[in-house]
Amino acid sequence: MTTNATALIAPSTGAAFERGQITRRDLGADDVRIAIAYAGICHSDIHQVRSEWGPGTFPMVPGHEIAGVVTEVGPEVTDFQPGDRVGVGCFVDSCGECEPCQASEEQFCTRGTVMTYNSQEYSGEPTYGGYSTEVVVRAGYVLRIPEELSLDAAAPLLCAGITTYSPLRHWNAGPGKRVAVIGMGGLGHMAVKYAHALGAHVTVLSQTRSKEDDGRRFGADDYRATSEEGTLESLRGSFDLIINTVSADVDLDALLATLTLDGVLVFVGLPENPQTLSVFSLTSARRVVTGSNIGGIRETQEMLDFSAEHGIAAEVEVISADDVDAAYERVLRSDVRYRFVIDVDTLRD
Ligand code: NAP
Ligand code: ZN
Repeated sequence: MTTNATALIAPSTGAAFERGQITRRDLGADDVRIAIAYAGICHSDIHQVRSEWGPGTFPMVPGHEIAGVVTEVGPEVTDFQPGDRVGVGCFVDSCGECEPCQASEEQFCTRGTVMTYNSQEYSGEPTYGGYSTEVVVRAGYVLRIPEELSLDAAAPLLCAGITTYSPLRHWNAGPGKRVAVIGMGGLGHMAVKYAHALGAHVTVLSQTRSKEDDGRRFGADDYRATSEEGTLESLRGSFDLIINTVSADVDLDALLATLTLDGVLVFVGLPENPQTLSVFSLTSARRVVTGSNIGGIRETQEMLDFSAEHGIAAEVEVISADDVDAAYERVLRSDVRYRFVIDVDTLRD
């Protein structure tokens, strides 16, 4: 039967959150019902609630960094049972048949990946995300959270973790590679940890020096403040790989100049405006500009297992459901250390 869940609902673009009830679907044969314990706040939630990527669908319940515990499974589910610690990330369904799906790159499904919220199931029903007490998800889109990871610090791995792990792996970050991470927020601090764990030489490019001690604690070998004059000029030709996590416009030509021959700049940050560059920034050293979109289910599980093995999790500030609007303002001021996570029990009161 369908169940009601309590949720934080944005009624319209940019409006403050309200508590309300949403309906979760009947448990299907291959569905898993999850009692949500924690939901991370991703900058993408803010972009979408504010309709910065185009008009959002309202009412909206954001949240795609979900950690919780299985409460019930459908009759065909063999991989999960009640009590299991699990996570759900940015998507909850895909066609399963196209080439990307067959390769477990479901985030590139050609039919269109069903995103965890602000999206539609293939049945046409709207999807509602993790700022809520419960969710029902097909078992194939549920991740296992290793025992070594606490649920609050694991929640952000479901988006911030995989979004940085995937391009680092794809572009072979490792020993002998010089990696720069621009923007040390939710995604950026995970990128630093993974790049270091993979054995690369890691430089943080932050706006200010205020996070330098943290950056070095996360594994950075070097830390530069882009607000200081001459910073990027002094780094010309320094990096093999740049992971750009900035949510705003960047000076692409200045950044590209810091890449060596065949160096690669990967956009994971998703600014609302088009970005421009001089083609000479590419041709002068055969540089590559590309992007990356979260990661598939198989790689997300690999990332969780890698995190457990290497003792990596997010640095979180756990907040009450009543503090989400204020937390959004702090994220927008780059005043987050380094991920806000909603204690979903505060929605159950
Ligand atoms: P976040 O916590 O706000 O971190 C972004 C960081 O960028 C800030 O902490 C800040 O770092 C830097 N920054 C912010 N404004 C800036 C500005 N005007 N100029 C220069 N630097 C600035 O956000 P997040 O949750 O990590 O997300 C980052 C971006 O990635 C968002 O656009 C989000 O939508 C996107 N995203 C993409 C994917 C994907 O699959 N591609 C997945 C998740 C999120 P410093 O203070 O260190 O400079
Ligand atoms: Zn996200």
